[in-house]
This record gives sequence, structure tokens and C-alpha cells, in this order.
Amino acid sequence: MFENLSDRLERSFKMLKGEGKITEINVAETLKDIRRALLDADVNFKIAKKFTDDVKEKALGQEVLTAVKPGQLMVKIVKDELASLMGGTFADIELKGKPAVILMSGLQGSGKTTFSGKLANMLKKKKGRHPMLVAGDVYRPAAIEQLKVLGEQIGVPVYTEEGNMDPVKIAKAAIQEAKAKGYDVVIVDTAGRLAVDEQMMNEIAAIKSAINPDEILFVVDSMTGQDAVNTAKEFNDRLDFDGVVLTKLDGDTRGGAALSIRAVVEKPIKFVGTGEKLEALDVFHPDRMADRILG
Ligand code: GDP
Repeated sequence: MFENLSDRLERSFKMLKGEGKITEINVAETLKDIRRALLDADVNFKIAKKFTDDVKEKALGQEVLTAVKPGQLMVKIVKDELASLMGGTFADIELKGKPAVILMSGLQGSGKTTFSGKLANMLKKKKGRHPMLVAGDVYRPAAIEQLKVLGEQIGVPVYTEEGNMDPVKIAKAAIQEAKAKGYDVVIVDTAGRLAVDEQMMNEIAAIKSAINPDEILFVVDSMTGQDAVNTAKEFNDRLDFDGVVLTKLDGDTRGGAALSIRAVVEKPIKFVGTGEKLEALDVFHPDRMADRILG
């Protein structure tokens, strides 16, 4: 039968009761359980190890065994530590520019176009903003079409320039158009490759320096596990992005990528995608993610 981490810890602490205080030896088994849960959730091995080492320090210094429910207290220590590692609280996007400019980055298939539509929808409906979408993926007509369809569904204009293969010029012209027409947020969707390549990185870096975005968001598929961390690092090294969007959390991943990415690039996760529909978007809650990772 499946036993969650909380129950498992409760059980192992029951057996330890009476020993008085936590020692390195009796906490070792518990830490192994925690590390296993993190690895099961696809957290990077080194990060899982560092995490359990930190928790060990904390647990050894506390009177966990004298608590009424020592296992639960231990789980709380672990969850709080996980949540604080993932930023503690929700980190919002900064939209100061007039218009504010948001640049999307990430691999093809990560969910950039879908998220662009979801974000425009959320900004329009919940924040009363007037967004404009920009089709910057000039290599895939299907991507432009997909953005147009999304724009129509949510009543947000989509800026495109047929035949123009220069995304830098398109992005700049779109911002001018937004200014002229009174749109206050410009969301620039960009091309992604199936793997990180030099040309893609050069192109998005050129867009960044040309339009100086308020926010650069890195969109990543949470189902890609360890690869997500490497991709995040490569994009961050090049773009110094402002935040991460973790998509496809409606899948069966436990979401360990959230912890690994945060630990490696030290940037906040700002949004999570939870489905294909336009409404399937949530701001990131570190405490909920900690629950999910631990199971
Ligand atoms: P892009 O190439 O980065 O622009 O990726 P797309 O936005 O085209 O998304 C690729 C696929 O993932 C599409 O089939 C989307 O419907 C799907 N997708 C995007 N976000 C989510 C999500 O949060 N959950 C699920 N289940 N599917 C998603």
C-alpha cells in the first residue's frame, strides 16, 4: 500500500520514541526517507543531498522527539525548508514600462505560446490591463496561427508581420504600435528549438537588447525532469531571466524540477501551467509545491 512521507516519518519516529533526543544515527533513516522522496520527485541528486544535510542540522537542534507528534513536526520542518528554498512567498511580475514588455524564452514545445495567451488573458481579466501579443516565432507559420487563434479567443490583438523574418524588427515595431494604440502590456512570444542552439540564443539575446523587457520569463516543461535544470541554466547564463514558468503540472510529475531550477539558477518561479485551457494558469505557491514534492 502507498504510504506518504508524512505517515512514514510518523511511523519511524514512533519507533524512536523513548530514546530522548535525536542523534545522528536515529535521524539517518528518516533523512534517507526524505532524500528518497525528493529523488522520486525528480529533484537533482546533489540538491537532494544538500537539502537533507541542512534539514539534519535543523532537526538535531530541535526537541522533535519530545513533541506529541514528532513525525509531523519533522515533516513541517522539511516542508518549511523546501518552501523557503523555493522562495517562501509568491513573486509577482514587474510591469513598470509604458508599455510594459514581457519576453518569453524556452525550448519549442515547452508551452511558451500557450502561456503567452494565458498570461494575456489573466492580465486582461484580473488586472484590467490592455495586452498585445506579438508573434516572434518567424520560422513556424503554425506558431503564428496558434497565437492568432488564442488572441481571438481572449479578445487580445496579435501583432504579426507576414514575410518579415527578423524578430528583432518585429518586436520593436510591435512596441511602437502598442504605444500608438494605447496597449499597456506587450507580450513577445519567441521561437524555440528542440534543443538549445547558438543561433536561437543569439536571436533571443538580440531581441532582449533591442527591446529591454521589463520581464524575461523562462518557460519550461515540468515533465522534462533533470533536463529542465540544464536548459534553465543555459538560458539564464545567456539571458539572465527574471522568472520561471513551470508548465504541464497537471501531468503526473511531482514537480521536483521546481526545487532544482530554483537552487541552480536562483530565480523565482512565478507561474505554473496546469492544463491546455486558457484558464489553466496559477501563480506559484512554494508551500503547495513543497506538499506536492513530498507527496
Ligand atoms: P511552444 O512551442 O513553447 O510555444 O509550446 P506550445 O504553447 O505550443 O505548447 C506545446 C504543447 O503543450 C501544446 O500541445 C499545448 O497545448 C501543451 N501545453 C502547454 N501548456 C500546458 C500545460 O500547462 N498543461 C498541459 N497538459 N499541456 C500544456
